[in-house]
Amino acid sequence: MSEINSLGSLSLLDIKKKVKQIKNQLPNEEKNIITYSKNFTLSLSNYCQNECGYCFYNFKVPKVDGQGNVVLLSNDHMRSLIQKALRFGCNEALLMSGERPESFKEVRNELLNRECREYIEFVVDICSYLLDLNILPHTNIGTLSYNELLRLKNFNASMGLMFESTSMRLFEKGGVHEKSLEKNPESRIEHIKNAGRLKIPFTTGILCGIGENFKERVHDLHLIKSIHEQYGHIQEVIIQNFIYKKGISYKPKKPISIKDMLKITGIARIIFENDIAVQVPPNLINGYEIDFIEMGANDFGGISPITLDYINPQKKWPQIDKLAKICRKKGFQLKERLPIYDKFITKEFCPENIKKRLDNINIDVK
Ligand code: SF4
Repeated sequence: MSEINSLGSLSLLDIKKKVKQIKNQLPNEEKNIITYSKNFTLSLSNYCQNECGYCFYNFKVPKVDGQGNVVLLSNDHMRSLIQKALRFGCNEALLMSGERPESFKEVRNELLNRECREYIEFVVDICSYLLDLNILPHTNIGTLSYNELLRLKNFNASMGLMFESTSMRLFEKGGVHEKSLEKNPESRIEHIKNAGRLKIPFTTGILCGIGENFKERVHDLHLIKSIHEQYGHIQEVIIQNFIYKKGISYKPKKPISIKDMLKITGIARIIFENDIAVQVPPNLINGYEIDFIEMGANDFGGISPITLDYINPQKKWPQIDKLAKICRKKGFQLKERLPIYDKFITKEFCPENIKKRLDNINIDVK
C-alpha cells in the first residue's frame, strides 16, 4: 500500500525521469523502437453471457452505425476477410468473441449447422485454417478452462484476456460489472495463471475510466507483475482508456483524462521495467502518441488496414505510414512485430506448429 501511495505522489515529470532511467538500461538499438502488429480481426460472435456497462460489442447493445450482430461468423465472410488480409500482408488474426457465446441457443444451433460439437472446436478449426495460410492466430474469447486453453495452445502464437479491473466495487449496484456475474476477477486471474502454466505467451491489460480509481489501477498492475514473476508468460500489458459510445449504459461524469492515462502508463513502465511491453491503442490516444512513448509505452498493438476496432468502431486505426512518420520525427522507429514477441520464440513458449510458420512470414521495418 505504501508503494501505491508513493507512486501516486509522483508528478508526471518525476515519472518521466524514472521512465527515462529505465529505458536507458536497454541496449542502444532497442531504446527507440516502438512496435505494432499488422493484424485483422475475426469477430466470431458478439453473443456474450455478461453485460458490462461499458461494452458496445455485446449483441444486446443497439448498434447505431449499421453494424449487425453476429451469431456466428459465416464461412463466406470469414474467407473474404482472410483473402483481403493476405492481400494487405496481415500476419496476425485476432479472433475475438463474447464470453461463452455457446450458452445461447442461436449460437448452438449455428454450431450444429457447421457440424461443430463445441464452440472451442469451431475456434480451433479456424486457427488451424489460418496457420495453413501462414497467418498467426491470437485468440481472446473470454475466460476459458485449462483444457480449453490447452486445446488452443498449439494453434495460437499468443493469446489474451484483459484484466480490465479486479475492483469488486464495480460489481455493486450501479457498477459496470453489476450484470456481469461471470466476470469475477478470480476466474480471470485463474485463466491468466493457467495460460502461464501452459506457457502461452500472453497479453493482458487494464481498462481505465470505468469507475475504478488510481489505487485500484496500480494494484492491478502489481497483480499482473506478480503473476508474471510466477509464470514468465506475459509479453505485453495494454493500458486502455474507456471511450463513451452511444447506446451503452455507462456514462462517466468525466472521462478519464490524458494526464491520468499518461501517469498510469508511466507507472506501468516503472512496475514492469523493461521486462514486459507497455501497449497503448493508437486510435484511442490520437495526437498524444509521442507523449505516451515518452512515458514508457513501447507498443501500439494490433493495427488493422482492413477491419474495425470492434470495441471502439468510431475510432479509426491510424495509417501505419503516418504513425511511422510521427515516430520518426521524434527519433523513434516504428517496427512491425509478430503476435509472439521474439523473446518467446523458444521451445518452451512456441509450439512446433507455430514455429514452422514463422520462417514463411515477412515483416516490415518502417
Ligand atoms: S466486455 Fe466482454 S465480457 Fe463484457 S459484455 Fe462485452 S464482450 Fe461480454
